[in-house]
Amino acid sequence: MNSDSISRNPTRPVRIGSITVGAGHPIALQSMCATKTADVDATVAQANALAQAGASVVRIAVDSPRESEALQEIRSQTTANLSVDLQENYRLALDVAPWVDKIRYNPGHLYHHERERPWQDKVRFLVDVAGEHDCAIRVGVNCGSVDPEKRERYEPADSVSPMLESALDHCEFLDSIGFTRYCVSLKDSDPAKVIEVNGRFAAARPEVPLHLGVTEAGMPPQGVQKTQAALHVLLTEGIGDTIRVSLTVPNDRKYEEIEAGRKILEDLAAGRAPDAAALNRAGLNIISCPSCSRVENEAFVDLAARVKQMTAYAADKPLTIAVMGCRVNGPGETDDADLGLWCGPNYVNLKRRGERLGAFSYDEILPRLKAELDALIELEGHSSTR
Ligand code: SF4
Repeated sequence: MNSDSISRNPTRPVRIGSITVGAGHPIALQSMCATKTADVDATVAQANALAQAGASVVRIAVDSPRESEALQEIRSQTTANLSVDLQENYRLALDVAPWVDKIRYNPGHLYHHERERPWQDKVRFLVDVAGEHDCAIRVGVNCGSVDPEKRERYEPADSVSPMLESALDHCEFLDSIGFTRYCVSLKDSDPAKVIEVNGRFAAARPEVPLHLGVTEAGMPPQGVQKTQAALHVLLTEGIGDTIRVSLTVPNDRKYEEIEAGRKILEDLAAGRAPDAAALNRAGLNIISCPSCSRVENEAFVDLAARVKQMTAYAADKPLTIAVMGCRVNGPGETDDADLGLWCGPNYVNLKRRGERLGAFSYDEILPRLKAELDALIELEGHSSTR
């Protein structure tokens, strides 16, 4: 069996530049640049390195007019299929669409700007821009930034239903205005939730191509194991048309995301089952973002590695520590963690179970984190194994 011969959902074809996902096309590998988008040379080098490693689509974050200008230059220096990652400022799509093949928007981010304007108007704007510039769209729903109206409709313990409903609403609206050149992603840092939410989505909309991934999977090898545990289950069920493995690795190792994705597909093809224990592994869970252009201090990847190293003594404690690279997504993405850290330019913010504890310098943060971890271990009645 190879991954192209498994029975896959009969999804629509969605063209992204020179490739097509869905409709039985080979499962495409994707990655994202973690360089500063305004640094044209570094971003071109990374986009080309990823494409050379086998990335069919390379995503780039753009948050400002300066970065959209850089994107124009980046476009002229690479033949990679490019996707742009938009955050709150959805209007930037107008500036960037001429230089990319796909626009990714997050339904949960359409609420921050022009709050009085209905999200449907904003999506219609994005669709008009995409149509004019021959771009596909990805509706990218993420566990840490779900549409607040959807969250309020469900019990706090149910984080899957708001994600699902948000995606289904956007699909219905896109269809209603005659735009079908889109795919959907539903990402969570918990592999079991990734399986559940994508499985439910695929049951409801089997014709919509899915981009699969476990967000903030963290550092290798655990980040790869978590991703494979979720994606193997889904892909075996015929769900998924394109994948990304999100890993916290330094920029010169970003190609490892593509290698890991290829290995997942090869294992699937060879019938090699992954370690299912990664789905519900007990013990300390460190989640960390893969970094992107928005990362606020280059020390982020090193910080994540030091957190992992420092907390090794608590490896058997059933606690979650989240380490994020920026203040845009850090506060939301650390909401469900026992201890959450997110980077600013000079300080690292720290949160314990939703309570902000303050900002600490890059030198101070580890001792403070350790003190908080020890306090939680004691509180939970676990004995430290130091
Ligand atoms: S948390 Fe911030 S730095 Fe990390 S990947 Fe997300 S947007 Fe980028």
